[in-house]
Amino acid sequence: MKRNWEALVLKAMGGRDFQLTVLSTESIDGHYQRLLLDGGGLLETCGVHPTMWIRLWFDNDGRAHQRAYTLVDPDPTTGRFTLEFAIHDGCAARWATAAEVGDTISATVQGSAFELPDPAPEHLYLVGDAASLPAVNSLLDAGADIPAAVWLEYAHEGEKALALRARAHHDVTWVPRRDEGQHLVDTVCAAVPTTGAGHYWVACEAATTRGITRHLRKTLGVDKDRLTSLGYWKAA
Ligand SMILES: Cc1cc2nc3c(=O)[nH]c(=O)nc-3n(C[C@H](O)[C@H](O)[C@H](O)COP(=O)(O)OP(=O)(O)OC[C@H]3O[C@@H](n4cnc5c(N)ncnc54)[C@H](O)[C@@H]3O)c2cc1C
Repeated sequence: MKRNWEALVLKAMGGRDFQLTVLSTESIDGHYQRLLLDGGGLLETCGVHPTMWIRLWFDNDGRAHQRAYTLVDPDPTTGRFTLEFAIHDGCAARWATAAEVGDTISATVQGSAFELPDPAPEHLYLVGDAASLPAVNSLLDAGADIPAAVWLEYAHEGEKALALRARAHHDVTWVPRRDEGQHLVDTVCAAVPTTGAGHYWVACEAATTRGITRHLRKTLGVDKDRLTSLGYWKAA
């Protein structure tokens, strides 16, 4: 498969390339595909952080198709990590469903950076969905002692199939995807406290993410350094 202009730009920006190998594959109720991968030196070279994501290069009828996925339980001692693919009708999701032990895929590491604030925030506010559930889990693990409010949007019941790593002091609300995501925007904006020194992390569909981020920044006046937000996918 030919690489496209994106690959050249990423290389120029310091992107590092690796070849991943599928070690095992497991369907989670048909709604997620969980792959265990050998990172080909990725973890040893790049280190790890909560919410860390990589760019995978899929072959879409001979054209390069780059999509981001989140490392789950990266283990630098073995060089292995898991990826959890939410299943929908897309090239990346189809590849994951069909992947077999021994298959390989190219990955580029460029752009992922995140640290929980130090000192730790007094509260976390996390907003995600099926695509960002692996990242939400990594935050719940990393900030295990920090009280958190978590809103998770789901398009159908099957999207709850992946275990959420919530503890007793994590307050979780599942929100059905309605009105093209506006229901999540309204729910979160109505529930999030108007004062306090928490840290906000928002990653769901692009327009939904923008709607929530706008409220946090413009209405509540949350500073940039207390907010991380990124659209994880785009509704067609
Ligand atoms: C930093 C980052 C980390 C991510 N980590 C993960 C992860 O760990 N696991 C994961 O599953 N996803 C993750 N995503 C989201 C994933 O990259 C997108 O869902 C991507 O669009 C999937 O590519 P595709 O080729 O399957 O579908 P595309 O070709 O992008 O889209 C095909 C069709 O599917 C729809 N679609 C795409 N994604 C979704 C979705 N999530 N839900 C419903 N419909 C969708 C599109 O609207 C379109 O109609 C991450 C995204 C980012 C930015």
